[in-house]
Amino acid sequence: MDKITIIGSGLAGPLLSILLAERGYQVHLYEKRVDPRINKISAGRSINLALSHRGIEALKQANVFEIVQPHLIPMKGRMIHTQNGELDFQPYSINPDEYINSVSRAELNKILMTAAENSGKVNIHFNEALIAVDDEKLTFYTGETIPNEGIIIGADGAGSQIRKYIDSHSTSPSHAKPLGHAYKELNIAPSDNGGFQLDANSLHIWPGGEFMLIALPNTDKTFTCTLFLPTSGDMSFESLKTKEEVNDFFQSNFNDALPLLENFPQSFFHNTTGSLATVYADEWRYKNHCLVGDAAHAVVPFFGQGMNASFEDCIVLMDFLEEHKGNWDNTLTDYAKHRKPDADAIAQMAIENYIEMRNSVAQSEYINRRETANTLYKNFPTQFIPRYNMVSFTSIPYSQVYERGEIQKNIISTLNGESVDLTLAESLINEQLPEI
Ligand SMILES: Cc1cc2nc3c(=O)[nH]c(=O)nc-3n(C[C@H](O)[C@H](O)[C@H](O)COP(=O)(O)OP(=O)(O)OC[C@H]3O[C@@H](n4cnc5c(N)ncnc54)[C@H](O)[C@@H]3O)c2cc1C
Repeated sequence: MDKITIIGSGLAGPLLSILLAERGYQVHLYEKRVDPRINKISAGRSINLALSHRGIEALKQANVFEIVQPHLIPMKGRMIHTQNGELDFQPYSINPDEYINSVSRAELNKILMTAAENSGKVNIHFNEALIAVDDEKLTFYTGETIPNEGIIIGADGAGSQIRKYIDSHSTSPSHAKPLGHAYKELNIAPSDNGGFQLDANSLHIWPGGEFMLIALPNTDKTFTCTLFLPTSGDMSFESLKTKEEVNDFFQSNFNDALPLLENFPQSFFHNTTGSLATVYADEWRYKNHCLVGDAAHAVVPFFGQGMNASFEDCIVLMDFLEEHKGNWDNTLTDYAKHRKPDADAIAQMAIENYIEMRNSVAQSEYINRRETANTLYKNFPTQFIPRYNMVSFTSIPYSQVYERGEIQKNIISTLNGESVDLTLAESLINEQLPEI
């Protein structure tokens, strides 16, 4: 059986190794960090994540969902905090069983690594940062080298070394497109009596037009808040220089969040500012190398899909491996070819969703369009599924979601009115949206 090497034991790496172990493969997983189960280290980027249908399906296939489930907090909708202090709860779906879940990145990472090791077929080598790849060998920071042979999968995130190697053999190398906005995480502690200080089953949003604050719940009754703001310009990370400026900014825009923030505004200066970019890679495969997860397609986080898409990559790869009866050459070719359009689609939708979250959600036109979409979903559930729902609660390939979403947008515009003309809606939908 082919020897499998995976670089990166973040989220996609250990999940893929479990799926490969289930199929009888022996896997060597190389991770630059130390073992987080032994050494208490920071979780890395973003403390908690929204897990939805695609990610859950992948975890189920890897037989780890039951272990992950107790760590999830359901988020049933968006809680919009308006500037005048009012709250507007917008459910994610008209179906109560369609919601997303907040999960700790660190916890998920540990569960996946333990399950991988428990398979008896996965060896995780910690403290092994891959620093160079050439046609003969892979070289790690420790000085260790391994031969460049077998199947080598880059699950090493947005700055992937494996992608760099693939790029070095490509006529159209990858590029990262910065969003021009960055993020900073802040914390809301539990209340004095140990409870949540905000509604626990919502994803909280303070839309600011050009920027926004969001908050996701954690099982320890804290919330992790993330401020998304332009990197430079009039109102930006660059322009907020003093404690007074930061306080004033929060006072004017996130008034009800300000008193809840822990150790603020010191935390604003102490916590790192993370950059946001989309990675576009035309080539996901070169000979025996291929990419999964952020290494292939890092996206901006506004659809809460980066991890979900990364997990889904692993399932798509395994489906092709099955279809090609273990022939890796055909598997890698088909995986790269078929998955890339889906990655492009979610990258685009993630950028579009930033505008929706920071701006549109508080506007009446958006609210009316969402109501129309929900009416159509209720009446034509197998044909018209709102785009958010298709992304978050189905496995419809992202590229199809994008296409159907564009058609649906036009249908909503045509129907635009106080009450939806269901007869007209039916004919438009039957004409343009085949059953799913
Ligand atoms: C602010 C923010 C919020 C987000 N929120 C969500 C969300 O709500 N829902 C969602 O689905 N996604 C979300 N994401 C996206 C999600 O974090 C990523 O898509 C996901 O982590 C990708 O998993 P991965 O395994 O491909 O990469 P990573 O999680 O980045 O893992 C890569 C691993 O490779 C290791 N590594 C890197 N380089 C090397 C090397 N040279 N040698 C060895 N090891 C190496 C790293 O240490 C790491 O462990 C968010 C991202 C950000 C930045």
